[in-house]
Amino acid sequence: MSEPALLVEQVSFAYGRRQRALDGVSLAVPRGSFTALLGPNGAGKTTLMALVTHLFRAREGRIWVCGLDLARHTCAALARMGVVFQRPTLDVDLSVIQNLRYACALQGLPRARATARIAAVIERLGLGGLERRPVRTLSGGQQRRVELARALLHEPELLILDEPTVGLDIDSRRAIVDHVHDLCATDGVSVLWTTHLIDEIRPTDQVVILHRGRVRATGSPPELTRTYRVPSLQDVYVRVTAEPS
Ligand code: ATP
Repeated sequence: MSEPALLVEQVSFAYGRRQRALDGVSLAVPRGSFTALLGPNGAGKTTLMALVTHLFRAREGRIWVCGLDLARHTCAALARMGVVFQRPTLDVDLSVIQNLRYACALQGLPRARATARIAAVIERLGLGGLERRPVRTLSGGQQRRVELARALLHEPELLILDEPTVGLDIDSRRAIVDHVHDLCATDGVSVLWTTHLIDEIRPTDQVVILHRGRVRATGSPPELTRTYRVPSLQDVYVRVTAEPS
């Protein structure tokens, strides 16, 4: 079997001397899977994202991206991933196309390739007609789709999204959830999606529940409900996150 798109092995992290934000976290994002990292506020989701995207360095434990050790082959590993951070990072004074062109330049994509990739992601994310609009004139949902389009420009194998639906209305949330599930099913992109919203998760997804810095449960929703003998994933989540640390 091929190595997972992402493998996190026994990763721990503390901010200063306070209690650990992550404590011996291990998880895998299998190739072509949609893996939802589910946890309440303060569980450690954003901290884990920061380590996986190399914003922070993991001093304890190891992280592998498509078989590459992130600590030793950082550039090659990062080139395999596309990231959508929790806070928007588009330049709102630039148009959609200017943001995408700028991202292509940062990635070092040759001009012809950049033009082709921009056209492809605009089509893929349903952004046709919005290309010349300044980002600040777009709705929150449209801006999120532009961020997703930007993350896909270099055709990453692994897509990482940190609570990408925060602040969006129900329809925009559903559109982003659908788009990313579709990327996973149709294009074979491996996805790590962090959330505290259970309704974003589908029965075929893999779920990792993080609570107080530790992985408490892993499996598909049907596997988890069977294991915990409860009717729904919501019940599993309530049970697991009520456990004392
Ligand atoms: P949320 O859903 O609210 O974004 P989260 O699951 O992403 O939460 P983290 O933001 O990773 O959780 O926080 C994990 C723990 O680390 C929390 O106890 C938090 O207070 C602490 N923490 C996060 N960032 C910092 C920081 N910069 N300095 C000190 N402590 C921090």
